Amino acid sequence: MKISESTAPAMQTKEDDYRHKKLRRDLVNSLREKGITDDRVLNALDTIPRHFFLDTAFERQAYEDRAFPIASGQTISQPYTVAFQTQLLQVQKFEKVLEVGTGSTYQSCVLAALGAVVLSVERQRELYDAASRFFFLKRYPAIKRFYGDGYAGLPSYAPFDKVLITAGAPFVPPMLLEQLKPGGIMVAPIGEESLQRMTRIKKGEDGSLKEEDFGTFSFVPMLEGKNNR
Ligand code: SAH
Repeated sequence: MKISESTAPAMQTKEDDYRHKKLRRDLVNSLREKGITDDRVLNALDTIPRHFFLDTAFERQAYEDRAFPIASGQTISQPYTVAFQTQLLQVQKFEKVLEVGTGSTYQSCVLAALGAVVLSVERQRELYDAASRFFFLKRYPAIKRFYGDGYAGLPSYAPFDKVLITAGAPFVPPMLLEQLKPGGIMVAPIGEESLQRMTRIKKGEDGSLKEEDFGTFSFVPMLEGKNNR
């Protein structure tokens, strides 16, 4: 059994019972202990059944604080990383957020749970199509997904209040900076190798840029172009 087949997002409704909720509460508490302080973010993670995003065989793993393989050789990010990036992004209700790297759609759902309007781009056709069949997304009509190259962003929907890159980018993609509103925030893991520096860029009302560094993380690479397999 190939991982890529076994971990495609489920097409059918799954259960979220008291055991899942308990595992999830424990996970959220562990994230708080690891330094996630934003209660809105922690609550969002508490409302989203992460096991829905993995194959039924991996329910327990869904509530461990680690990344997990999904289709197309990609990963669902570690819960700590999702919480950390989301916290840095300071999402407010009704803000328009561009996400690069839809993957499993877990991060998109976290953003939508915070009340954001999410526009998410994925370059892997297989992942884009799998998400189209994923029952849980019906709960979040504020998520719009696009098959495309995140380096280009979504010019026709710009500008964005927030931009979140969930793959390791070798450099800050200039077109995404352009599509960020004055007063907006971009969060992106930046680095050419397997490790990246978590970077937050704030664009001032005058267009000036201020960069902050939040330490080392490891993401799958942000690749150029689309993959139509
Ligand atoms: N946010 C996802 C994380 C998935 S891992 C989640 O919550 O599951 C990163 C994703 O970025 C992968 O799905 C990968 O295919 C995608 N990606 C990499 N380069 C990209 C690009 N240039 N444009 C859009 N998506 C890209």
